[in-house]
Amino acid sequence: MNKASINILLVEDNPSDAKLLQQTLWHLGKEKWHVVHLERLSDALSACSKRVFDIVLLDLSLPDSQGLKTLAKFSTAAPNVPIVVLTGFDDEDIALQAVANSVQDYLVKGQITPKLLEHVIRYAIERGQILNQLQECQHRLRGVFKQTPQSIVLVTCSGMIVEMNQSALNLWGTQQQDCVGKPLWELESWNLSSANPGWLKSIIAKAADGESLRHELHLRGANDAMLWIDFSVRPLKDETGKVVLLIVEAWDISEQKRAEAEMIKAWQQERELNEMKSSFVSMVSHEFRNPMSVIRTAIELLESYNHQLSDPQRSKYFGKIQTAIRQMQQLLDEVLFWGKSDAGKLQYEPTLLDLQNFCSELTQNLQLSANGKHQIIFRFQGKPTPVLVDENLLRYILTNLLSNAIKYSPQGGVIQFDVICQDDTLTFQIQDSGIGIPIKDQQLLFETFHRASNVGSIPGTGLGLSIVKKCVELHQGQICLESQVGVGTTFTVKLSLNHQSPQSLELIESGSDLQSLNHKSHRLSAGKNA
Ligand code: ATP
Ligand code: MG
Repeated sequence: MNKASINILLVEDNPSDAKLLQQTLWHLGKEKWHVVHLERLSDALSACSKRVFDIVLLDLSLPDSQGLKTLAKFSTAAPNVPIVVLTGFDDEDIALQAVANSVQDYLVKGQITPKLLEHVIRYAIERGQILNQLQECQHRLRGVFKQTPQSIVLVTCSGMIVEMNQSALNLWGTQQQDCVGKPLWELESWNLSSANPGWLKSIIAKAADGESLRHELHLRGANDAMLWIDFSVRPLKDETGKVVLLIVEAWDISEQKRAEAEMIKAWQQERELNEMKSSFVSMVSHEFRNPMSVIRTAIELLESYNHQLSDPQRSKYFGKIQTAIRQMQQLLDEVLFWGKSDAGKLQYEPTLLDLQNFCSELTQNLQLSANGKHQIIFRFQGKPTPVLVDENLLRYILTNLLSNAIKYSPQGGVIQFDVICQDDTLTFQIQDSGIGIPIKDQQLLFETFHRASNVGSIPGTGLGLSIVKKCVELHQGQICLESQVGVGTTFTVKLSLNHQSPQSLELIESGSDLQSLNHKSHRLSAGKNA
């Protein structure tokens, strides 16, 4: 067999037709062709399974198969072999139907000239090759369309769904048969989305006019999960520039959004921390500078005029030094306490406490340190039985609230301090008739370093209430306030008496004597600290 020759399978049961065709081929040049002649379809199919043919000249009326069935069987068994149908005068119709069914061409027996035969064979082979390449290309593209993780929906210019790839079906939680032919905006996922049908229709109309559009959307995906998607609609144009289809793509960017949000949060936290550090430094330096300058001035006066000063004058300056030192001590304590609470090191260590006595002593101490313009009225309601609370944390809470009430009532006046011990709740209420707190500041007071806009020259760091809040939370309690500028402020703290740590349970079970219980509790916390 000549290497360059064309392998022809001639399937023809009429010996004279077959002979005529072979003679015509020889006439065109024997070396050009290698012809295998068979009379039955079954033999032809078996020959195709054993070797490769460049073309088949196929008579449709064979002893073992008739008409278009012959064609169907042959093209199923040998899909890549180009077919030229051989037909008689009377069945040209069938030949035309065959051509419509992927046959390359047909030849009418009795009208076959050598030139025509060569032309038809060569043209059919070439067309067959082009078709094969096209099919391969289409196969590849469909593979990409089907398997890409990008979700792609093809829609008509009026928004009707033509096809969705697998990723799109997964993303939109639908089936091909349920969505093809439906408008895009009728997919269920849009129900809870940030896009509405009107908006989608306008996007489709713009894309049909040739525009490419892209948006980030929030919508309900499969399994009812809310997703962020990168959504785009692009026109697909033919070679004349006419928009023939729209490509709707969606990419699930929920993970990316989550990571973005976390990054922004971390960045904000870092910024807040930096702001806090700088306000902390300026606050501490400012708050220390005042008492230090008082001490310096008092010492300078005592040094320079010691002999001229009377005893009462001298003790007045010593008193100022002591007050300034106390202020600095208090500030240091507060900073240390805050440091502990900020590092999460504040611990809830309850002991049984005679609450009435504790509050009464606290009131007396604060009354003594107030400058005489204020009167603290303490009232207790409820049974005077011991309660289980953290004494240190409670002292911090009450001292701060009462000091604030004194400090922010510069005109003096009465401060009501009510303690109500009822069922499993302890309520503390501290009411003053001081400067009050503007509404815009009220929500922010529990944030570190926040001071209301009306404090004027009243000293303070803005740390107290943020620590108070943490102490209250450690008791699983709540703190709230009511205030009106120029009228006064009421802080209310509610602590739950049911909040029991393992130590507190042990204390309750082991007896009722207050002294021994307190002693035991101290040992417990000491052991824990050790
Ligand atoms: P310090 O840390 O020394 O207590 P501070 O009193 O400024 O300083 P907080 O106790 O945290 O800080 O109070 C925060 C702010 O709340 C105060 O600066 C003040 O503006 C406002 N405030 C608190 N209590 C009262 C009150 N009883 N009356 C009016 N304003 C108050
Ligand atoms: Mg304060």
